[in-house]
Amino acid sequence: MSDADALLARLVERHAGRVADLDARLAAAGLGATCPPTWQTLEAVPPRAKSDLAELQRTRPDFGGLAPRSLRPSAVFWSPGGLTEPQVGAAVQRLAELLHDAGFTAGDRVANGFSYHFTPGGLLVHEALLQLGATVLPIGPQQTAQAADFLAAAQASAYVGTASHLQALMRALDALPPERARPPLRLALAGTEPLGDAIRRELGTQYGIRCLDFYGTAEIGVVAVGCAADAGLHLHPQVLAELVEPATGTRSAQPEGELLLSADADELPLLRFATGDLARLEEGACSCGRHTPRLRILGRVGESARVRGMLLHASQLRAFARAAGLAACRVTLTRREGRDHIELRYRAKAAAGASAQVANARADAEAIAQAFRDHCRLRADVQGADATLAEAEIALADRRTEAALEGRT
Ligand SMILES: [Zn+2]
Repeated sequence: MSDADALLARLVERHAGRVADLDARLAAAGLGATCPPTWQTLEAVPPRAKSDLAELQRTRPDFGGLAPRSLRPSAVFWSPGGLTEPQVGAAVQRLAELLHDAGFTAGDRVANGFSYHFTPGGLLVHEALLQLGATVLPIGPQQTAQAADFLAAAQASAYVGTASHLQALMRALDALPPERARPPLRLALAGTEPLGDAIRRELGTQYGIRCLDFYGTAEIGVVAVGCAADAGLHLHPQVLAELVEPATGTRSAQPEGELLLSADADELPLLRFATGDLARLEEGACSCGRHTPRLRILGRVGESARVRGMLLHASQLRAFARAAGLAACRVTLTRREGRDHIELRYRAKAAAGASAQVANARADAEAIAQAFRDHCRLRADVQGADATLAEAEIALADRRTEAALEGRT
């Protein structure tokens, strides 16, 4: 039995008959306790989307039918979107193991920059650090000046939270009087936010802090953490990841697509939990020495389209616009003569006057085309400046279905 099949069999054996949503979706696939899913048959089970949870929780008890009946969780959280979530013990264990693999040790004094109230992050990190034998400095996400004072006084050696918060803390430490001893900060788990990569690099070069990204959701906890090789986020071995085509829900032929996660837990066993995140999964040994698959999060589903077999995401357009010095860009996809047609429109950053702007855009057309190929791995069929685009507009308009309906393909 493969690791994936063993994980699925155990999850269903432990929870079939106790979790309403799980039972209903297994039944829809003709599966259940006597016939648990395997990696091969799992695709028949309808996914449960994170975006369904708010509606389910309004109409069904037991956290929308996802938790075992009559569960008594040790804590309940209140997450964005008005969701209640039970504390998940297995998530504490998984995070403790991921922190250990990332280099956190029992001797560390770790500043916990996540909030302890409402959302699960603060308590999850706190308990995982205790499990590891580390000492927690509960700083939370605010009061940066006091927190920097605390880090210096308590000699913090590591940090968990967001990269931008750690950056603010380091600047506040720089402002302390020179006679104050600096904390020996060497390691941070600091994800996942826009511009995170740039901030993590800066924290590494400027302060010598090895800064690792991570991925997780409120329902499943942290499931993947980066490594020294900076080659994606290593997935926890007890979490099963699948990638599906966002448009059809079928398994992706390419190693990228919407991320579905399955993992066991007493409080919230998840089977094919559709995260709404678009990811790439890389198999094979990593130069850090580990063999677990590595996850790269590309963005949110709904901001992407598959074009000529390649996934194009709005985050790539944003990176392209930044690199090409554009204020705005819009990609429109249509079908022409049986192939995907890409139209790229853009607006250059404001120059001295409108005429200078047009001249600029013309002169830079080749550089813009090159930047588009570099960042989007695609060649536009048509490109040109468009002064009517709104400032900072980054749009991916997929008109291929409309064209097909009108018989224009
Ligand atoms: Zn690695």
